[in-house]
Amino acid sequence: MAKIVVVGGGVVGISCALSLQADGHDVVVLDPGEPGEGASRASCGSIAVSEVVPLSKPGTLRLAPKWLLDPKGPLALRPASLLAVLPWFLRFAGNARGDRIRSISRDIALLTAHAVSDTEDFLDRYGLRSLLREVPVIQLFDSKEELEKERGYLDLRRDLGFQIDVVSGNEAAELEPALAKDFAAAAVLRDWRSVVDPKRYVVELHKAFAARGGEVRRLKGTGFNRQERQARAVRTQSGEAVTGDAFVIAAGAASKDLVSDLGFTIQLAGVIGYQSLLKAPGIDQTHALIYGKGGFGITPYESGLAVAGSVEFASASAAPDWRRADILVERARRVLPGLTARSAERYFGRRPLTPDTKPIIGRAPTADNVVVATGHGQLGLTLAATTGRLVRDLVANRRSNVNLSAYRADRF
Ligand SMILES: Cc1cc2nc3c(=O)[nH]c(=O)nc-3n(C[C@H](O)[C@H](O)[C@H](O)COP(=O)(O)OP(=O)(O)OC[C@H]3O[C@@H](n4cnc5c(N)ncnc54)[C@H](O)[C@@H]3O)c2cc1C
Repeated sequence: MAKIVVVGGGVVGISCALSLQADGHDVVVLDPGEPGEGASRASCGSIAVSEVVPLSKPGTLRLAPKWLLDPKGPLALRPASLLAVLPWFLRFAGNARGDRIRSISRDIALLTAHAVSDTEDFLDRYGLRSLLREVPVIQLFDSKEELEKERGYLDLRRDLGFQIDVVSGNEAAELEPALAKDFAAAAVLRDWRSVVDPKRYVVELHKAFAARGGEVRRLKGTGFNRQERQARAVRTQSGEAVTGDAFVIAAGAASKDLVSDLGFTIQLAGVIGYQSLLKAPGIDQTHALIYGKGGFGITPYESGLAVAGSVEFASASAAPDWRRADILVERARRVLPGLTARSAERYFGRRPLTPDTKPIIGRAPTADNVVVATGHGQLGLTLAATTGRLVRDLVANRRSNVNLSAYRADRF
């Protein structure tokens, strides 16, 4: 049994901690925040198994200038962040070529193919299966042209083994009666799942970890004490050094700083997204919906109806621009005309996104006993259980059923 320190207790960090604990290790999680806040809470809550096509796909990049010029559009860039974001963005744009799109999609699919079974097994282990809903997710298209533009990507996703049925707007409205009746078409994403509530999801995992003797310490990691190629302790803001035999960096978008203290670089942007949670939406909705043109999803949670999305590039210290959360609600009425939204709770989070949209799951190139688990972008909830299993195997030097070379930490 080794003592393992996991830095970051978001959905990815706590999933790694539980898997390592189940392998018999003594695990400590360091996180200065409350469980289930940040990116995980602001999310759309989908186990989005076929969301494998990278965000750099040409359709998105072509629309980017138009979106950036529209103050209510789904994409925003704070001018003060332009220089900081530029190197990341150039690499991102370099991944727009057709061959890169296909190869990245394959790499992500290798992971997401395991996501539902890993998540179910993981939740079963803790008696938490009821946190998952088995209802397909519906992606909406305003026009036939929009569907045709997406057709190639839908085919690519099907070729990779995922279940996607294209139906008419009317058929979609039969499945989900609260939906506007004038959508031209929809893709029913049969193999997706949704969590019942992303905050509770992470909180319950924290409880399961604590109930089995795991310790979460409210400490912020700032770097590592090292001896040659071995990390010995995490230095923390309070001055305490938390020692361990092995370490996992799973601090979401903040992982970049911890990694650079180890003497190597990862390309990671903390891309802001917002959520408005409507406690009294005035409609009954069963399926989670995705409205790509608006850049948001609408998910029924047990705590309310969540409208979540938007992609905003801003510096790590930038305050949220809550107008973007309000815009999401305005736009959601296009999808759900009966929506009555008198008040909303607003959340935001930073998706840890790499320029190739692939997560980072691998050993630190400069320290043999440190594993990096971050960069999950729009798939952190989807891949948390799978990542936990793969990190557990990496720490144990065990072969896993996924070749991890595509997700290496030294690929930047
Ligand atoms: C609008 C929106 C919609 C989304 N929809 C989906 C979806 O439908 N499906 C899906 O799979 N994903 C979705 N995502 C993405 C998902 O939310 C993220 O990928 C996921 O939350 C990342 O998890 P994480 O644990 O890596 O990071 P986080 O959730 O950000 O957690 C990181 C943790 O590390 C802690 N931390 C930070 N710095 C330090 C430090 N120095 N020391 C110690 N601890 C530290 C933080 O306090 C935090 O608790 C969405 C995200 C957004 C914003």
